[in-house]
Amino acid sequence: MNNINQQTFFHCPKCGKPALGPRSENSFACSACQFVFYLNCAAACIAVIVNEKNQLLVTRRKKDPFKGTFDLPGGFAEPGESIEQSLIREIKEELNLDIIRLEYLCSFPNTYPYKSVVYPVTDMAFVCGVSTFDTIDARDDIAGFYFVDLPGLDKNMFGMDSPKKVMEYYQGLSALAP
Ligand SMILES: [Zn+2]
Repeated sequence: MNNINQQTFFHCPKCGKPALGPRSENSFACSACQFVFYLNCAAACIAVIVNEKNQLLVTRRKKDPFKGTFDLPGGFAEPGESIEQSLIREIKEELNLDIIRLEYLCSFPNTYPYKSVVYPVTDMAFVCGVSTFDTIDARDDIAGFYFVDLPGLDKNMFGMDSPKKVMEYYQGLSALAP
């Protein structure tokens, strides 16, 4: 069993005894009170946005994890949101852009390390159209944004696994396009 957080959690969140141990890849059990705690995959969205020159919109991360590396815009779904709603909200918050259409592209498993907990994540990517780029502005967790040519774009400029894979997947598709 490979539970990536087994060195992080020892105390039971229900009875408080230091009797918590890994039960599966994503769960923990308390040997004192039998409580079971799951750390399930969080849903997250990624936007693939290109301009009229077919250049990809990439952002630079302002904060850890992977501070300073390239990223694709997006983020975690909030409880009660659809993945489409989370994408529209995140792109407005991060870049002040209004998504007017979106189409599912692909998904990848990812992990997100944050303050000693490694969260499992399911990243879902959508190709998005925006109403205008005139309002674009780096906000929230974004240090900057760039429109970059897809051919030759190095995936290693991206810090996190999913944006790397999404970019590579889309790069492959657009190379096939007429
Ligand atoms: Zn307990």
